[in-house]
Amino acid sequence: MAAQILDGKAIAAEVRADVARDVTAFSEQHDGRVPGLATILIGDDPASAVYVKGKQKACAEVGMQGFNVPLPADVSRAEVVALIERLNADYEVSGILCQLPVPGHLDGVELTGMIDASKDVDGLTPLSAGLLALGREGLRPCTPSGVMHLLAVAGAQLEGAEAVVIGRSNLFGKPMAQLLLGANATVTTCHSRTRDLAAVCRRADVLIAAVGRAQMVKADWVRPGATVVDVGMNRLDGRLVGDVDFDAVKEVAGAITPVPGGVGPMTIAFLLRNTFEAAQLQRTAAGVV
Ligand code: NAP
Repeated sequence: MAAQILDGKAIAAEVRADVARDVTAFSEQHDGRVPGLATILIGDDPASAVYVKGKQKACAEVGMQGFNVPLPADVSRAEVVALIERLNADYEVSGILCQLPVPGHLDGVELTGMIDASKDVDGLTPLSAGLLALGREGLRPCTPSGVMHLLAVAGAQLEGAEAVVIGRSNLFGKPMAQLLLGANATVTTCHSRTRDLAAVCRRADVLIAAVGRAQMVKADWVRPGATVVDVGMNRLDGRLVGDVDFDAVKEVAGAITPVPGGVGPMTIAFLLRNTFEAAQLQRTAAGVV
């Protein structure tokens, strides 16, 4: 039987509608004040400009304020640091993200690390990563959070399940593994040096691929009935494809995300969710209920 297709676009639309309702209630509670997202865009990389524009548009659609700060490609480290410090202190700004990659003379990891953890809506600062590793509350990276939501909607049983994540990036693979562990799955993280990757993947009740290699995961890597989540985004013959050989794997899996229209839309939805949560926590911390 063909797999259930997990419609990320529809699920993300529900998350966004929930955030919009929360923003309305927040504004009524706080004299018209709404959460605000600041994006820092350094240089003129066209893909980064498109991503930032999409994030700002999504913000406006749920009724949040957006502040985009474009900086020239040759901006100095000191100027970016001063901007992050200003945004950290700005009461109107609930969340901050520095769009990566940054130009070569700057260190994106260092700059991201300067964002106040209470405004770290990408969940990428060392403090946020540490809180996740410790199982303490904090802002979580958007794409893995989106995947957890997709799995919940799919009704995937995580407790005691074998979960396999292919990819160990700081952006996705590591936080994904931590979130699955937090949900009591038995987690294996694979990478480019993993021996017999196909055999490890075949153990998975939940298989998550975040590699960046078009259609790498084949049907015979997948246990019949498994839930397969495809995070990859690759260009193949002029079209967007994932890391999973979708047409073949959907005949074996129990549920599967398509590319496009699976994980991708969840990322922005959880950026909005994080920005709202950040605003809420900042108000609570300031003693404003
Ligand atoms: P990344 O930093 O390049 O990490 C790729 C990971 O895949 C690394 O851990 C690497 O192993 C592993 N890998 C590479 N070749 C492999 C192989 N042959 N077998 C097993 N593992 C292999 O990438 P990323 O940032 O995590 O992103 C991964 C993919 O997800 C990309 O296509 C990206 O565009 C996509 N993505 C999508 C979203 C979204 O919103 N939809 C968000 C984030 C990422 P080593 O560590 O050993 O090098």
